[in-house]
Amino acid sequence: MRIQPWNIVFLAGFVAYVVIRGVFERRTRGNEKVARLVDGRDRLLLVVVFVGSLLLPLVYLFTPWLAFADYRLPAPAPWLGTAVLGAALWLFWRSHADLGQNWSVTLEIRKGHELVKDGVYRSIRHPMYAAIWLFGFGQGLLLQNWLAGWSAFVTFALLYFVRTPREERMMCEFFGQEYRDYMRQTGRLFPRPRVKGDV
Ligand code: SAH
Repeated sequence: MRIQPWNIVFLAGFVAYVVIRGVFERRTRGNEKVARLVDGRDRLLLVVVFVGSLLLPLVYLFTPWLAFADYRLPAPAPWLGTAVLGAALWLFWRSHADLGQNWSVTLEIRKGHELVKDGVYRSIRHPMYAAIWLFGFGQGLLLQNWLAGWSAFVTFALLYFVRTPREERMMCEFFGQEYRDYMRQTGRLFPRPRVKGDV
């Protein structure tokens, strides 16, 4: 392994990320699904994200194969990266906790699915995706390799721009006016400022 302090910070964050996913995956396992909107493109994008956010960083950390793409970041970058990674992990954990039994890794509606509008979902519709964007950005500021550093950010961008409109269409179909009202009250990734007259 490339033992450098910032790589170790990244690895600790990476382990925390995987643990959070694992815990909530286990909690929602066995929770029946009533609608599923997964096609070949969605599966392919999940594989691409897997390569970008899991495989490439691990190859970088544990083999010399990506050394050709090493570069040097300005000294403050990894400090900022550490703060961004911390914020990402907090938001990642809170969004899983707030979604509870309604969470899925793909586009699905579960039995008894409820529209969550509280906690970190109060003013943002996609806090979990915001957390993944942040994690990818933190990764880019921590790993001094342009491939392993920015692979998560770039591959997640592909998934995000394809998936989010489909997810919102699915939610509109299932929850109708309630989701359309929720869309008006929230921002996609950034909190929407409340204006006078909002409830
Ligand atoms: N896009 C959200 C959730 C990602 S998990 C986020 O970034 O935080 C994806 C699943 O969450 C979708 O299949 C959908 O069923 C569910 N979902 C998304 N928003 C939801 C909400 N506000 N309430 C309940 N379930 C939601």
